[in-house]
Amino acid sequence: MPTPDPHRALYRRWRAQRFGELIGQDPIVATLRRAVAGDRLAHAYLFVGPRGTGKTSTARILAKAINCTDRAPDGEPCDACAACVSIREGRAMDVIEIDAASHGLVEDARDLVMRALTAPSDLRKRVYIIDEVHMLSTHAFNALLKLIEEPPDHVVFILATTDTHKVPATIISRTQRFDFRRFTEALIEGKLARICESEAVQVEAQALALIARLADGGMRDAESLLDQVLAYAGDQVTLDAVREAVGLADEAAIGALLDGYLAGDAATVLGQIEALADAGRDMAQVASQAEAEARTRLLASVGDPALSRRLALILRTLAEAAGVGAREGRARLLMELLGVELPAATMVPAAPSASAEPQRAVSAHVAAVTAAPEPKPEPLAPAVPVAATVATNGDRSAATIRARWAEVVERATPVIKPLLGECRPIALDGARLTLAFPEGRDFMRSRITQRAPAIEQLLSSVFGGSFAVECVATNVELEPLSVEEAIGDEDPEARALLEGVLKITGGELVDAPEVR
Ligand SMILES: [Zn+2]
Repeated sequence: MPTPDPHRALYRRWRAQRFGELIGQDPIVATLRRAVAGDRLAHAYLFVGPRGTGKTSTARILAKAINCTDRAPDGEPCDACAACVSIREGRAMDVIEIDAASHGLVEDARDLVMRALTAPSDLRKRVYIIDEVHMLSTHAFNALLKLIEEPPDHVVFILATTDTHKVPATIISRTQRFDFRRFTEALIEGKLARICESEAVQVEAQALALIARLADGGMRDAESLLDQVLAYAGDQVTLDAVREAVGLADEAAIGALLDGYLAGDAATVLGQIEALADAGRDMAQVASQAEAEARTRLLASVGDPALSRRLALILRTLAEAAGVGAREGRARLLMELLGVELPAATMVPAAPSASAEPQRAVSAHVAAVTAAPEPKPEPLAPAVPVAATVATNGDRSAATIRARWAEVVERATPVIKPLLGECRPIALDGARLTLAFPEGRDFMRSRITQRAPAIEQLLSSVFGGSFAVECVATNVELEPLSVEEAIGDEDPEARALLEGVLKITGGELVDAPEVR
């Protein structure tokens, strides 16, 4: 069996080695080149920016430029002299890289100070590159501060951090600061395209666009993603290959999941999540996709405050689920809980977002997903805008609620509709609404209790105010519902129900007012 060359990660092979190869950080590069060329180096630099924006690459190139023996007049290192090569290969004794994230330098702090004071052995200047400098221990910070306050001439510090707020102000004030920006998707796509071309890889433009979007402005992440796709799909990088390689769900399935949330339809939500999990989807990734979709819909929901609020509520949990990363069991749990806990919808879900990709290469599992619990974009709640039917008028007596019960049932989601259809409101005490269900169907108690938040939300949307539902069994035969049900004293069923309940509960409801 032939042993292939050890695979080196793309981001290592394609790491910029000269200023001219750095992309997307032009102002920083220009300033550093001028400083090197004009011999106006600072003693300490602070590179601030998100991960994968080129801080470490820039630091190494700067270390080369400082020490290059054949430097161009514009500050560009030759990348060929002994100094450049030893730095590129990571064996220069005088370029010291420290990852503060992996060790807080508590023990090395003294060593750092001692070594910094001695002259460099091979190179012109000794360069310290301290990555994630905000992770240094207080002790190490103090040692570093001393060095930066009175720096030996032969030392340059390059501190890099993703979190400048955790770097002491005393350090920041003694450094020259550069802020690295996230790469634009166009820049990332451009570099990935160049890589693919020179690696003789066939690639779909949409595939690169998706990778660039997923990388969220980080070039190293983008290159790692491309690596992952190449390992998965060989030298044919297609949109589907990218989705499969990163465990991304089809947009149709994500849209259906969001429709379920918007409708407050727990059954659809749980069904979608299960189908996605069965298809091997990464749940944190699913949450992140759903989050992006919810955000798109939120932006499109301007002018519909109720929809915006609901989307904001959904977005909050999805963002949390997406953020839990590797703990994917938790991402799934958060998404499932959201589906169960969200109040029933009282508005029409938004139309599927326009961002959904037009072409749908529906793979087998996706067909299963979309076929399962009928994730129609149609509203699962009645398509009546809330505002049109809310007739609160401060009128929320038990009698009114009883009279309009059929309407309440009609507006319920499919999940709670059968439950509500089988019970009747019998008493209202402040916010506490007592629902009676037929004796002998005790399972209804737990099911209603489980769905209480959705039921309460529905009641609030119809009658205004807040509700807390509780349920009791009754031995009274329930009459069929009718919208024009009689109100008040002329409602014999209400009286019979209450009496039946009183018998069962031993008179606990004696004080229940308003059922006359
Ligand atoms: Zn050189």
